[in-house]
Amino acid sequence: MRKLKKLHSSKKSFRQNPGSVAVIGGGIAGLKAASMLHAAGYNVTLLEASDRIGGRTHTIWFGNESYTELGAEWVHGERNNSIFQLMNPLGVLQPRGQLREFGTDYGLPSGVWLQSNLTSNMREYLNYTWFDPEDWREEVHINVSQGVWARYVLERFNRTYHITDDPEMFEAIYDWAHRTSNAEESATSWFDVSGNDWGDRYIWLYGEPDVRWKPPYSYHTLAQFILSGSISEDGNFTLPDYIKLNQKVESIQYSTNGQTVNVSTQDETYSVDHVIFTGSLGVLKANHATLFTPPLSTRKQLAINNIGFGSVIKIAIEFAEPWWTPTFEGLFPVWNDIDYSNETLHYWRLDLTDAELATEYDGIPLWVRAILTLFNVDSGSAPNVLRAWVAGNPARFLDRQNSSYIQTHVVNAMRQFLSSQFPNITEPINLYKSNWGEDSNFGGTYSYRRVESDAENVWAADLGTPILNLATNKPLVCFAGEATHPHYYSTVHGAYDSAVREVDRIVAWGKMD
Ligand SMILES: Cc1cc2nc3c(=O)[nH]c(=O)nc-3n(C[C@H](O)[C@H](O)[C@H](O)COP(=O)(O)OP(=O)(O)OC[C@H]3O[C@@H](n4cnc5c(N)ncnc54)[C@H](O)[C@@H]3O)c2cc1C
Repeated sequence: MRKLKKLHSSKKSFRQNPGSVAVIGGGIAGLKAASMLHAAGYNVTLLEASDRIGGRTHTIWFGNESYTELGAEWVHGERNNSIFQLMNPLGVLQPRGQLREFGTDYGLPSGVWLQSNLTSNMREYLNYTWFDPEDWREEVHINVSQGVWARYVLERFNRTYHITDDPEMFEAIYDWAHRTSNAEESATSWFDVSGNDWGDRYIWLYGEPDVRWKPPYSYHTLAQFILSGSISEDGNFTLPDYIKLNQKVESIQYSTNGQTVNVSTQDETYSVDHVIFTGSLGVLKANHATLFTPPLSTRKQLAINNIGFGSVIKIAIEFAEPWWTPTFEGLFPVWNDIDYSNETLHYWRLDLTDAELATEYDGIPLWVRAILTLFNVDSGSAPNVLRAWVAGNPARFLDRQNSSYIQTHVVNAMRQFLSSQFPNITEPINLYKSNWGEDSNFGGTYSYRRVESDAENVWAADLGTPILNLATNKPLVCFAGEATHPHYYSTVHGAYDSAVREVDRIVAWGKMD
């Protein structure tokens, strides 16, 4: 039975009693918001639907003290990156020069690995699509998809700097860049992603783009530090009392004339001064109509519907011992044996069914073509593990498949692409995988700007607009989380900074005369 829990709610006695806040969600945004509010004297309750904190940061441990990240992996950039600034002084991040890349080798289905003069040109082409160093974008219609933009860049880059004369290789390079983009965006297809996404909207921060955690530290260390103010190698700490796990919020009732908001889980209703909602855009897409009473504004609904929220699956395959060399970081498959004009082979089509993704061509299921890389980025934390990443609808499809099916085909791909260099590929002993797309607490991995986001003129800021009391401007329901950050969406630092923004909003209101 529901019982109404009335928490303190008084604006006037701010300094003695700053009021009550329900923080919904225990990912990085929720943890940061709740810990700040608690420190500022608010009566805070964090309601987390699942049985763990961390949200889309999720470190798992297995075997002999190995661990891997199923969610966020890197700290993207240094300057102005709150996570880097917070954690680097603690010595828990890899120093410069010891960073491992996503993969440095490129291979053909025939087993041949590509020469470095070709692959460095391929990388440079990708940099041109991302950073546009010669301002080519000015000559392209502004509202194109990333796929159209990248095609223009590849043709012009190839004319200017020459990557290849081989038409099949040209298409294979375009496809490799497509898979890279899909993983960056978590999208199914770069024809769905705004070609304006990179530029002044998403902002890359200065410094190392992909800073890793130094073993034995991980993204779990960040959660530990936010909540306890300290770190430890074993990561053990006691959760504060204000965090309530297994508490899925089912309804948020507010009135723009009201003073309090009612937040209900299955067995309790909290009446609070303020709410900070940090659930993912995927959760909002699936549930906003039932979660919020009255419904969210038309503008916010437009943003929820038209900003993209994709998915990535991380597949970690454990072997008894490495059969690869310590210098091997990873290999990008470059499929130059495909007729790219044959639409049945377009694994990126938005309307593909599970049966189509599972269909085998030359003995290879279609989804295998969507694997971005086979890589060993975990050499410090999981030395016996190679991983595969797949993005978009093929990732959601794999969420629904059993481990042995996935393992069979990923290991087949390893044999096809890696055995020319590593002939003694052994049988795996375990497979660990994420499940972001199928998990109703997330509904995917991170947000991206779609072509439709531009067409509808909707922005992360629309997702972050708070619901205020119309008379007093009291923030009733605030929205934080990665998707609400105008420039750092899709990242942990974006989630963290969005929490600071919303706490500042509530505190500033409380201090108004
Ligand atoms: C595979 C993957 C790779 C990534 N790689 C990187 C990377 O390398 N670097 C980087 O910076 N970022 C990366 N990201 C993105 C980053 O992890 C996220 O942007 C960030 O963690 C989001 O935090 P958040 O607090 O906004 O949301 P979340 O982490 O989603 O937290 C929201 C919480 O709300 C809970 N919740 C949902 N609905 C309810 C409800 N009704 N009631 C109560 N609780 C609810 C959820 O269980 C969740 O714990 C990656 C993400 C994924 C999944």
